[in-house]
Amino acid sequence: MEAVKRIYADHAATTKLCEAAFKAMLPFLRDEFGNPSSLHSWAKEPRSAINVAREKIAQCINAEPEEILFTSGGTEANNWAIKSTGGTLYVSSYEHHSVLNSANSEAVRGRELVIIKPKMGGYIMPRNLSVLKSGTGLVSIMSANNEIGTTNPVRLLSETAHDKGYLFHTDAVQMLGHLKVDVKDWGVDYLSASAHKFNGPKGIGFLYCRKGAPLQSFLDGGSQESGLRAGTENVAAIVGMAAALEFNCSQIARQSFRLERLAASLCDGISRIKKDAHFPGRDIMPQLPGFVSVSFPGCSAESLLHLLDLKGVAVSAGAACNSRKVKTSHVLKAIHLPRKLAESTIRISLGYENTDDDVSAIIDALKFALKHNAT
Ligand code: PLP
Repeated sequence: MEAVKRIYADHAATTKLCEAAFKAMLPFLRDEFGNPSSLHSWAKEPRSAINVAREKIAQCINAEPEEILFTSGGTEANNWAIKSTGGTLYVSSYEHHSVLNSANSEAVRGRELVIIKPKMGGYIMPRNLSVLKSGTGLVSIMSANNEIGTTNPVRLLSETAHDKGYLFHTDAVQMLGHLKVDVKDWGVDYLSASAHKFNGPKGIGFLYCRKGAPLQSFLDGGSQESGLRAGTENVAAIVGMAAALEFNCSQIARQSFRLERLAASLCDGISRIKKDAHFPGRDIMPQLPGFVSVSFPGCSAESLLHLLDLKGVAVSAGAACNSRKVKTSHVLKAIHLPRKLAESTIRISLGYENTDDDVSAIIDALKFALKHNAT
């Protein structure tokens, strides 16, 4: 039997470690194992590598090195920003669960929580923030959505939040490393990032916290991360994250153009084999490069996903990145996609390794899946 070529088209869930990150990490996985906080010479290399990584990351997003705090990923960065602030909390209904559930746990502790609804197209405009009462607190709106790939006008949203007296946080986990991110231009107070979404290692991320913005201690213990997040640093992961971000940022112009072209050709191919295919979020605001969210009326997304997997093509359905089970997506619900259509929606997210041949193979696999799909 002919071996099936495996095509990974689920880059919004996670990405492959890039060569630059892999190479940068190697010394710190074994030989340079010293604890960066030790007083002897074994600490020198790891400590210096952490400092360099912090500087590189800061440069990539136009921040100061001391404004970068390493975390275990995007979930922790989101929790940290939200739980460091007081006052009223405004979050949108289509945020990642690490934002929504952090906000809900703050509400359980008595904090006022207001949910902002996105437009039907899957984005948020400054006029959506007209619900903001003058006061204090935090507004948290994601830079790009992880299920439909829509992007938000972060600078305008942060300006609006500040005008009303609020701090502004953005979850940039899906956007960083794929589109330009500039914290000074955006004027954000906090920004969350996760390395495994930009070809870095898993279990590492960072929180950008503007100098002067409130930040509570997240983990008590030693003096790591300015005494705010204690614990011996994961040196290899930090170094890998910086190398991956530096590499991806240098490729943004070329890759975003290439991936957009691949996504457009994928959409064309899909529309040819299924005339009534619907593309949530694809019409008005720019989408993340390579991102295709597509509904197949009359089909089951879960069944499509498994049939595509049989053909070697990996995609996701619903909020699959946080569960082994496909659930009706809160994002598709938030943008008012009818339930039946939401249940027929899959997410195809292309990445750096995907090619024109992969797009043709995905379309062929979809033909097979649509033919054998059971609703
Ligand atoms: N925020 C968004 C938008 C995401 O897509 C994800 C992961 O899927 C996260 C946060 C969580 O990041 P991590 O997996 O690093 O905890």
